[in-house]
Amino acid sequence: MSASAEPIQVAVISSFFSPEWLRESEARSVSTPWGDASVDLARVEGRTVACLWRYGRDLALPSHRINYRANLWALRSLGVERVISQNAIGSANPALPPGAVLVSVDFIDFTHTRPKTFFDADDIWVRVEMTEPFCGEVRAALLAGGQGLFERLQDGGVFLCAEGPRFESAAEIRMFRQWGADIVGTPLVPEVILAREAEICFASIAPIINYCTGLAPGVKHTGAGSMVDFYYGSGFHAGIERAIRAAIVGLPAKRRCACGMALEGAFHGTPPAWFTPRPR
Ligand SMILES: [Zn+2]
Repeated sequence: MSASAEPIQVAVISSFFSPEWLRESEARSVSTPWGDASVDLARVEGRTVACLWRYGRDLALPSHRINYRANLWALRSLGVERVISQNAIGSANPALPPGAVLVSVDFIDFTHTRPKTFFDADDIWVRVEMTEPFCGEVRAALLAGGQGLFERLQDGGVFLCAEGPRFESAAEIRMFRQWGADIVGTPLVPEVILAREAEICFASIAPIINYCTGLAPGVKHTGAGSMVDFYYGSGFHAGIERAIRAAIVGLPAKRRCACGMALEGAFHGTPPAWFTPRPR
């Protein structure tokens, strides 16, 4: 395929993802100030879509070792305006059983070791707005795209991002629930923050794979392999892939949200030499 000259409006950052439209794709390595990132470019009904596997195609990379800054800056360099994040998560809310799918509205950050900003120097930093961390336009496209595909598709919920790579303790899950968390996963932060700093719209579609530790007595969490097995074995993947495809097609051609202006007035200090503002 020849996608290189096309504007790239949408990217999918996925954990596990194998839609039919990705079979014909063009691999691309993108250099960034934080190292190289690898994306595949594919076509969906006339739109070029960039796909990025956060754990690598062989799922070899744990969440705390992902080069998030290279990934998100690579997407910005390609001109990507919107990111759809596909997550697979655990439920911390007894009312949300495995099988439900959430398009979250807010997040809590419980990560500890990850760089969370592009602009990390003594004399330069940015303070971006987080009132609405997930883009309303992309959320709406995902909710419309997922209609009728799942037992339950929830508009809303709070996504708590934990550090990993271990699973959480039962006491941590009880605490997260008291904080208002509905679902728990490990790669959302800093993706959602870096997308905002890159002035890219971001929203997540998250199928619940299991209950978090302590919510289903007798159930032991046994690692990423069991999540992948459940994701594909339960048929989740077909619904999620259809919902994402429909969202890509359904997004309005031009953004009307405020995500593209996130750095307006957010800089403290002079932007670094490697930074070029997005076209307004
Ligand atoms: Zn937006």
